[in-house]
Amino acid sequence: MTGHIATTKLLTELRRELGASRVWSEAADLEPYQRDAWPLAAKWQAAQLDEHRPAAVVRVTSVEDVRKTLQVAASHGRPVIAVANRSSVTGAAIPPRGAVVLDVLGLDRILAFSGLDATVTVEAGVCGGHLEEWLNHRGSTLGHYPQSLHTSSVGGWVSTRSSGTFSTKYGGIENLIAGLQVVLADGSVLDFSPTPRRSMGPELMQLFCGSEGTLGIITQVTLRVARTPLHRRFVAWSLPDLPAAFTALRTGFDQHVVPAMIRLYDSTEAQGIYRMVELSEVRPLLLLGHEGHPAMVQAEAEVFGSLLRDVGGTELGSDIGNAWNRSRFDAAWLREGNAGDARMADAIELSVPWSAALALYRSIRAAIEPRVESVMAHWSHFYSDGCALYLIFTLFDEDNESLQRVYADVWDSVMDLATSHRAALSHHHGVGLVRSPMLSGAVGYVDDMARRVKGSLDPSGMLNPGKLTPT
Ligand SMILES: Cc1cc2nc3c(=O)[nH]c(=O)nc-3n(C[C@H](O)[C@H](O)[C@H](O)COP(=O)(O)OP(=O)(O)OC[C@H]3O[C@@H](n4cnc5c(N)ncnc54)[C@H](O)[C@@H]3O)c2cc1C
Repeated sequence: MTGHIATTKLLTELRRELGASRVWSEAADLEPYQRDAWPLAAKWQAAQLDEHRPAAVVRVTSVEDVRKTLQVAASHGRPVIAVANRSSVTGAAIPPRGAVVLDVLGLDRILAFSGLDATVTVEAGVCGGHLEEWLNHRGSTLGHYPQSLHTSSVGGWVSTRSSGTFSTKYGGIENLIAGLQVVLADGSVLDFSPTPRRSMGPELMQLFCGSEGTLGIITQVTLRVARTPLHRRFVAWSLPDLPAAFTALRTGFDQHVVPAMIRLYDSTEAQGIYRMVELSEVRPLLLLGHEGHPAMVQAEAEVFGSLLRDVGGTELGSDIGNAWNRSRFDAAWLREGNAGDARMADAIELSVPWSAALALYRSIRAAIEPRVESVMAHWSHFYSDGCALYLIFTLFDEDNESLQRVYADVWDSVMDLATSHRAALSHHHGVGLVRSPMLSGAVGYVDDMARRVKGSLDPSGMLNPGKLTPT
């Protein structure tokens, strides 16, 4: 059967099972699904883009729709990729040519909420920003604030092991998942009912957290919520240098004084934030978010303040934090840095132990500075055993091929340096197309187990092939 006839048959069957209005195959309808928010995909030439042209997009609105889509795609030997808001910055949501794209944005209902149990159950395509506003009206919050809050879905968060800016208090999305419903490649439906915790064997539900659509289609999620804190206060500090900041932060952890939000900016990135309040300061910037009972906020800010003064810090008040808060969902650097054919901007985030955090940052700067237009960094999430380094670089090259080549070189260098400094290749953006070729041998990744799990849950390899486990 020729490709064209095979696709016509696939489309006919999908339309029969799901209804014509929910199966799209016109070039104009498919085109937006050939990219996600991965900056490299925006620079692809026509031939590269063609490699990612799906055969159809199916907008599902029920578990039954998901099952039917999987069944039809399997009978035609087509890969299936679940996509939601396509805010992935790694190419995780980009299909291989000829795939069936299973668009979950029609799974958009908020199903149940309990203030007493502090949980909310939603369908996977619910937009994060919508859910947060819905909860706020009921006096609650998720506490999960990725910068893409308003342009990403709950299912997308779970699939990528997302993390938000207040993670030192609320944790990553993996800490917020209480229950999950997943449809496997063979159409069977798994229900992990919500419980506060359990000791009944390994927590298999977590297999799907970070699975990037390669192990099953997430249809429902129960998340833990919290009451909206009574008080929140931002305090900014300028520090003499990065080692001083790290010393104070480490002492904070040692003394169990850990603000809900901690963001440490190197001098380069700090400049842009100081400019928001027209402050002419050049030193590294530490932004803290204290929240909870007003008395605890006061106490935490005082104790942390004394740790920072001990290392030469200067308090800059609340204006900087408030300005940051107002613009925290706007990634201007990504938009502006990718404007035009010759410009590229991207972020690489890594997870690194305290002992290697500064050395990793310095070696990356030294390695890529000669090849990039600019580089800046902050540390955006902190743990008792380490932190997340978030590196932003920009490139300028009018030759498209050479732009893409330098981009790949920078990624390779950073990934190599991450591994030699015992860092995980990603803290929260995930793997997608950009990191999949580098996973083997990465710190904390067990190739053999990943292959066995994939082989068991998706033996034909139909779910999002080319991502995570090498096929
Ligand atoms: C400006 C900007 C800022 C960002 N900031 C953050 C941040 O602060 N923190 C953070 O963690 N991330 C951030 N991201 C990355 C991105 O928003 C997250 O990865 C997000 O979780 C993706 O959600 P999505 O709904 O857009 O999923 P998509 O991009 O559509 O999909 C992402 C992956 O999940 C899979 N998937 C999606 N839905 C399902 C489902 N229902 N079942 C199975 N698989 C599914 C897809 O196959 C794909 O592999 C940012 C992105 C941008 C563009």
